[in-house]
Amino acid sequence: MEQLLQQIEAYRQEIGSLTPDNAESLEAYRIKFLGTKGIVKNLFNEMKNVPTDKKKEFGLILNEFKQFAESSYEDWKIRGSSLNGQSTASDLDLTLPGDPLRPGSRHPISLVRNEIVHIFGRLGFSVAEGPEIEDDWHNFTALNLPEDHPARDMQDTFYIHQHPDWLLRTHTSSVQARVMERQKPPIRIICPGRVYRNETISARAHCFFHQTEGLYVDENVSFADLKQTLYFFVQEMFGKDVRVRFRPSYFPFTEPSAEMDINCRICGGVGCPVCKHTGWVEILGSGMVHPKMLENFGIDSNKYTGFAFGMGIERICQLKYRINDLRLYSQNDTRFLKQFIPAL
Ligand SMILES: [Zn+2]
Repeated sequence: MEQLLQQIEAYRQEIGSLTPDNAESLEAYRIKFLGTKGIVKNLFNEMKNVPTDKKKEFGLILNEFKQFAESSYEDWKIRGSSLNGQSTASDLDLTLPGDPLRPGSRHPISLVRNEIVHIFGRLGFSVAEGPEIEDDWHNFTALNLPEDHPARDMQDTFYIHQHPDWLLRTHTSSVQARVMERQKPPIRIICPGRVYRNETISARAHCFFHQTEGLYVDENVSFADLKQTLYFFVQEMFGKDVRVRFRPSYFPFTEPSAEMDINCRICGGVGCPVCKHTGWVEILGSGMVHPKMLENFGIDSNKYTGFAFGMGIERICQLKYRINDLRLYSQNDTRFLKQFIPAL
């Protein structure tokens, strides 16, 4: 053991005195000390001859020596490449132009989200946010989603393994629930955010996407207010010539409910694959807030009424920028991202 330690110390001094200044001497060093039959390897082989009670101490010293031998090699290599390479100080041409710094651009989802926030902001809607990991009450039960609703199916929802009550929110309606819990009317909010569904990833479906929901609760809020608000929104977003239609629909948290279509912005209403040749595309769901939902949060449904709506930000992006593959949004491909105007 003592002899081995002396040997290691001698090798350490040998390395300390070396200054390999060319590729050959550096390679000779590597073979001698770090090669498969090199000194470091041989010393490790000596481990079996060291008494058991000294193995730990010897192992520590040996590992330290190994690191020293390796880092010396790396240092010489870096120094050698800067000395022997082509770029010595005298070769530097200080008049060459620098590498361009490319400005980033906003992600299309952010662009559309910001525009939505801006449009509704002009109508007095403020932004509300909530957690992406939700509990069952805020994501489902409080929103009048009965136990047997398909949205609760394990197929659609990511549950958190550690806690049966926790899940990744499937919609931003959970934010509406949290706001109604702590705030009394008037409430006028929009809730943009990321949501999660257990879907197979394809051009048309993804396991996460973005929504914006809106909620307006006050005295005398009517369906006419809902229609006018949403009509204003699509005109601002898509242009004054946009046409809308409302179709009756069903959502557990609104009654009555309607889906809103606009005339297809891709084909102008003539018919194309995006609008399935109907000339219309659905862009959002909406309705008058179900009285039971208001009561769930202690809001007097005889005094107050409200409307709510929800839309997918990717869908608006698709119509605005003609992006037909949902996967593009999260692939971080700069060829895709740099097509969008620099940060506003
Ligand atoms: Zn179309």
